[in-house]
Amino acid sequence: MLAKFLDDFRFITTCKKYGLGLWQCPNFLFLMMGLITIVAMVGTFFVSSRFASEGTTVMSVTLEVVFIMIIGSSIIRGVEKVAEANIMKTEFISIISHQMCSPLSAIKWNMEVIETESDPKECLPEKQAVFLQNIKKSNEQMLKMVTDLLEVARIDQGKAVFEEKIFNLADLVKESVSDFQGMAAEKKVKIESQIEMDQASVCGDEKKMRVVFDNLIGNAIKYSKEEGKIEIKLRRDDGKIIFSVQDWGVGIPRFQHSKVFEKFFRTKNESRYRTDGVGIGLYLAKAILRHCGGKVWFESEAGEGSIFYFSLPTV
Ligand code: ADP
Repeated sequence: MLAKFLDDFRFITTCKKYGLGLWQCPNFLFLMMGLITIVAMVGTFFVSSRFASEGTTVMSVTLEVVFIMIIGSSIIRGVEKVAEANIMKTEFISIISHQMCSPLSAIKWNMEVIETESDPKECLPEKQAVFLQNIKKSNEQMLKMVTDLLEVARIDQGKAVFEEKIFNLADLVKESVSDFQGMAAEKKVKIESQIEMDQASVCGDEKKMRVVFDNLIGNAIKYSKEEGKIEIKLRRDDGKIIFSVQDWGVGIPRFQHSKVFEKFFRTKNESRYRTDGVGIGLYLAKAILRHCGGKVWFESEAGEGSIFYFSLPTV
């Protein structure tokens, strides 16, 4: 009991563990509130015994109460922050396990079919190729998820390494469009692209910029309706390169717009359950673009579609 009480006073270790600043950390604020209450009580005693005026006593007691209420509200905010982090963690674990479960089961199921299929007539090479293709796809999905998660962790810890190199963004857009043709064809989504220049020199990390395209173009296809289309544009405007990708898919409800670039955010519509994802793609894209001096924004209406933009300074 006493050890637990004394433990509360090791607030620096505890606050570090929660990842909270001192003035957001409930343990520290609680200690401060205790100290301020003691000082205030002693102060009131002196004021009232020296000046013995009712008005002064009432004034000092009121001031103390206001001060204690301010500290109290900071404690509540600190506790809310810890609770929010806890909810986020739980949500994260549930999303991860849920999302990893489907591709893992697909791998297992396909592998079992290959292993147990004994009748050569039943298991033609063509069929095996389809199973192997499924395994490959699931693996790629998992790999992307894990790679993105690792990158998020690196960025959050300030450990991400960014290469600084001049490269042609127009070429990268063309490559990404070609990489996504397979995924788009599967969903019968048409990709239209208007790249207004051959040379769009920007400075940054080309590999990481590829991740930005993977997430923005990937989302546009993922959240498109079957047999829809997406439009990709690359243009120059006021010394900047502007990229945009538009879809006419599920869209994002207005009340959730402010949360779209938050970590682990997924809209609360049925697309959350119909599509793969853990809600880190846009968080990652924003972090990468910000590092390269760029900006990302979007316009969207639920049920009508979305358009995501980013701008980068040219060199
Ligand atoms: P996810 O892996 O879930 O797609 P993102 O960070 O890429 O994660 O996107 C966060 C959320 O924003 C998505 O879960 C989705 O709800 C919403 N979103 C992103 N892009 C689009 C889009 N083009 N159309 C509709 N919703 C989108």
